[in-house]
Amino acid sequence: MIDAPAPVSDSGAPLYLFNSLTRALEIFQPVHPGEARVYSCGPTVYNYQHIGNMRAYVFADTLGRTLSFKGYHLRHIINITDVGHLTSDADAGDDKMEKAAASLGKSAWDIAAFYTAEFKRDLAWLGVRGPAKWTVATDYVPRMIDFAKRIADTHCYELESGLYFDVSTVADYGRLARAVTDEGEGRIDEVEGKRHAADFAIWRKTPAGETRQMEWDSPWGRGAPGWHLECSVMGEAELGMPFDIHTGGIDHREIHHPNEIAQNQAYRGCGGLDHAEHSGARLWMHNNFLIDRGGKMSKSAGEFLRLQLLFDRGFHPLAYRLMCLQAHYRSELEFSWEGLAAALTRLKRLVMAVAPLRDIEASTITDKRLTDLLAKFDAAVSDDLNTAVALTVIEEAAAMKKIDTAQKRAAIAKMDAVLGLDLLTIARADLRLRPKGAAIKDTAIEAMLVRRKEARAAKDFATSDALRDELIAVGVEVMDGDPLGWEWRL
Ligand code: AMP
Ligand code: ZN
Repeated sequence: MIDAPAPVSDSGAPLYLFNSLTRALEIFQPVHPGEARVYSCGPTVYNYQHIGNMRAYVFADTLGRTLSFKGYHLRHIINITDVGHLTSDADAGDDKMEKAAASLGKSAWDIAAFYTAEFKRDLAWLGVRGPAKWTVATDYVPRMIDFAKRIADTHCYELESGLYFDVSTVADYGRLARAVTDEGEGRIDEVEGKRHAADFAIWRKTPAGETRQMEWDSPWGRGAPGWHLECSVMGEAELGMPFDIHTGGIDHREIHHPNEIAQNQAYRGCGGLDHAEHSGARLWMHNNFLIDRGGKMSKSAGEFLRLQLLFDRGFHPLAYRLMCLQAHYRSELEFSWEGLAAALTRLKRLVMAVAPLRDIEASTITDKRLTDLLAKFDAAVSDDLNTAVALTVIEEAAAMKKIDTAQKRAAIAKMDAVLGLDLLTIARADLRLRPKGAAIKDTAIEAMLVRRKEARAAKDFATSDALRDELIAVGVEVMDGDPLGWEWRL
């Protein structure tokens, strides 16, 4: 833990965040007073994103929202990787974009445009706020070449297949991963002639006699940039170095981010990583994985867990967001449909509890019970984004009785600005999604339920049971005695 002066935040609690580089909780202190500059590694747009990937953006968004809540002016960048990410981490294999283009018979550019749009749609459904800027890797290739030129002589060497970074030329290579050079986890020296197993491609030459759809001229031949180079360049270009926080999924802690860090040290002529800023960012933060024991997170398997599948099964995406918030971002989260159903129920309860506040104008919060709750909420999110506790606090606020509703609304709005559950806009009915393939119309269900009620009132249980069976047969669950007052569910 680092001793630090009080942060500039007007909000009470100091903001503690876990730095993967030091493996410690640290008090957030912005590089530029009052500002928070955050870079999040974005998707490779060769396919849909699965909901595990989306956990990474829900996390980055929660971080961004928390920084805003704490009073910092947020500048958040998410990149779109539309070139350079290979199917193997060891600089071998195909570019994911070119491979998808070949298998789908479309241009790599069209594929990138299509999946970028799908990704942004999913983000919007999940209540993830758009970044200040989307940086698209192919827009930055000239800058990548300039960056590579600056480090080529001192830190790189050329092989037949491209320009490679020599990891022995920077101090503390691999510290983020806690891996030793040459013995890094999963490092396979797949490229002939590399000096160290961990050396990585800065520029990959197009093999003689081949052409790629995405390729550019460079001092090292026609080809494409390495994936790690892209993020270093976009981060530097948009946020300046050092910036405040770099985020990504925990897999990036092992190879992608250590390599970005090495490049940044080289580019900036920095020493070792005892000074976190030499890495290019003050904090490196990583979300843990969403795991699915059913194996549906693999994009290569037929049906995989993407947001559309949740829709198809009748689950509102915000139930998934809430499911993410129930876990700490640094813990693994196991996906299950039961867990998602429980999250949806929890969301419905919250939406119903705050529904009476929807049309009320917010006012200044002076009631001590509310200011105390807000302080509790602040303490939770300031404790390395403890959203699990924050959720219980907003529930406590939502359940408060005999309280000025205008103030209550203001408090709920403040908390929900961090949680992003859209509680004061969304209606209970919005959360009831029609699963794909459900043939029966809502009006028909309601009519059958009226008949069933009449039958029950007349103690004609045979008819009432028959109606219930009929409904079950078409996929409608009759929910007698549901605490939320839902009479049926598809
Ligand atoms: P990619 O498109 O493979 O670069 O992944 C996009 C983001 O999702 C990266 O930050 C990954 O680290 C993250 N990610 C990948 N799989 C998962 C998962 N199962 N759970 C959480 N985050 C993931
Ligand atoms: Zn990246």
